Amino acid sequence: MKLQAVFLSAVLASLFIGCQTAPAPCPADSGIVPEIERAGPEPTTPEETEVYEPVPAKVAVAATGLGFSTAPSDATVLFDGTHLDAFYMAQDSTAAQWTINKDGSMTVANRTGNLQTKENFGSMQLHLEWASPAEIMGENQSRANSGVFIQQRYEVQIMDNNDNPTYTNGQVGALYKQKVPLAMASAPSGAWNAYDIVFHAPEFNEAGQKTKSGTLTVFHNGVLIQDHVTIEGIIKYIGWPSNEPHGDAPIQLQDHGDNSRVRFRNIWLRKLGA
Ligand code: MG
Repeated sequence: MKLQAVFLSAVLASLFIGCQTAPAPCPADSGIVPEIERAGPEPTTPEETEVYEPVPAKVAVAATGLGFSTAPSDATVLFDGTHLDAFYMAQDSTAAQWTINKDGSMTVANRTGNLQTKENFGSMQLHLEWASPAEIMGENQSRANSGVFIQQRYEVQIMDNNDNPTYTNGQVGALYKQKVPLAMASAPSGAWNAYDIVFHAPEFNEAGQKTKSGTLTVFHNGVLIQDHVTIEGIIKYIGWPSNEPHGDAPIQLQDHGDNSRVRFRNIWLRKLGA
């Protein structure tokens, strides 16, 4: 009897370990989030995961942009306009090289690489303000492309899509290559935008299997553009989202490498419990 119980436990354990990738679905009560079933082989080119519909409706916001949002008392302030001490360069952990401006903003220093917070974060409420340049340069994905990578993996797109269409799961406010925003709520080129993001981190068990999907809510200039969406997995430029396990991780701000000249200001977050 005892041996039978051990055998049964082993069988169940092997089922749970294998079910995220095996053809057989995870048992409903395993607590493991099953992989999304997808048709056909995994894409091998970027274009295969670009979508052009739906096209989010344009919502008009204040033409002058928004004012500063003051960090609440319990916030972790990442950038207040005076220094970049909360960040370093993502690729080599050297001092942050982006440019601090006299108006309390900072500008992406082209081809220096992404900025990355020194601290790791889990679930959070994140506020940041960004502006694309008034002087238009580039088109499609090369017009003021930046982004905020939550936990280094989940990009909320930053881009100037005013009269600049692109694939809609890669446009401003998209959860890149995963979720088209509900609306396009950008301020005019050159004016300040605000993102207010609520992120709940995914959870993984000791075997590395996802037991809870991450979720994302985004307000763009006060307009709800991502409504508690389920994050499928780690962003992939080519291919499907994947689900390698991870814990708390830094935030990155993107240097897209094509002279985006995107500015940021007033970046803070509030840590949320699990
Ligand atoms: Mg980007």
